[in-house]
Amino acid sequence: MSLPNMHHAEPIPDAAKAEIDRLLQSGDLFRYTSATASPVTLLEAEFAQMMGSKYALAVSSCSAALFLSLKALALPRDARVLIPGFTFAAVPSAVLHADCLPVLCEVGDNYRIDMDDFAAKLPNVSAVIVSHMRGHTSDMDAIMGLCDAAGIPVIEDAAHSLGTLWHGRKIGTIGRIGCFSFQSYKMINAGEGGILVTDDADLVARAVIMSGAYEHNWTKHPVLQEAFAQHQNTLPLYNLRMGNLSAAVIRPQLPELARRVTDGLSGHDHVAAQLNRSAWIDVPAPLAPETRAPDSIQFNVQGVTDAQVLDFVAAAKAEGVTVQVFGLSNDNARAFWNWQFIPDLPELPQTRAMLMRACDVRLPVHLTRAEQDTVADILLSAAEASFGETLAYGT
Ligand SMILES: *Cc1c(COP(=O)(O)O)cnc(C)c1O
Repeated sequence: MSLPNMHHAEPIPDAAKAEIDRLLQSGDLFRYTSATASPVTLLEAEFAQMMGSKYALAVSSCSAALFLSLKALALPRDARVLIPGFTFAAVPSAVLHADCLPVLCEVGDNYRIDMDDFAAKLPNVSAVIVSHMRGHTSDMDAIMGLCDAAGIPVIEDAAHSLGTLWHGRKIGTIGRIGCFSFQSYKMINAGEGGILVTDDADLVARAVIMSGAYEHNWTKHPVLQEAFAQHQNTLPLYNLRMGNLSAAVIRPQLPELARRVTDGLSGHDHVAAQLNRSAWIDVPAPLAPETRAPDSIQFNVQGVTDAQVLDFVAAAKAEGVTVQVFGLSNDNARAFWNWQFIPDLPELPQTRAMLMRACDVRLPVHLTRAEQDTVADILLSAAEASFGETLAYGT
């Protein structure tokens, strides 16, 4: 059976077309032109309501949301911000962009923050960004316990975690601020886009102004107006706004989210159960409080050499499944040693070891059961072909 293009998302719901036509007719593409609720303003209201958050601010990307979150926290120049050593290069970049310094902490072979290293590094930082990388939730109970006790604000990078639950609570609403992405490979696809949520009126007011609500455009945000007035003309304008066309593409996808999450989790767990039967493959289990919302699968290959891992990647590719090994592909943006723009880039032995064996395969939520089975079969045969020798000769 042939597989569909694994980088294609679901079609955008038809409702988007009529709204885009209307916007094209009027030329009303800028969120602040309309005196009444623009598509971006409506999206913010709907997203905040969906998340159970008081406030939402839609922006140009999740990276922009992370940058604005750090700026809104008013951290001093060169403040140290703790981030996981396994994340996307845009995260340490957002920290540097905000004139702060990223401090990297170790990540375990289950792709989650190593809490011992986290606790050891926490006393030297002013803020924390928890990247729930590929939607794998780090131990939010432990993180919030330590950070609350130390008075350190937590920003959740939930770019790839929309729909994930922790003790039934929505990921992205546990820290002080949560940031999400609408880039094409995430649960909701607008090509580009991001949004932040928070319950903190002053934080959101600062972020709204800095996102580019110049002059009195903040009056078009239906949130506490007193929070804004005190910041008039005191904050820089970074112009990271979302446009109406993006909002028009995103809004009709919000009602699809619950189904996408259910389908994604079911497909992931179906493939994971098959892969876990292989002696060479381990799909780490979620943490107990976590209900995942995956649109890809990560697994570790074990007891094998680098050359065998590359054989495995080639064998799967020949059958139509692209496997990315974060640490073995060229210039990978999720391998910390490629973040050479960070001053005094540290070594993280545990994270490096994980990245050398962690495999990443897209598993779009629209795959049928038969297509999921094909992906699992291809991966299992590639493992057998590339690693079979290992067991025969013992490891
Ligand atoms: C995609 C992603 C980002 C970046 O999101 P953009 O909207 O492309 O800026 C940041 N962090 C994580 C964990 C991501 O998956």
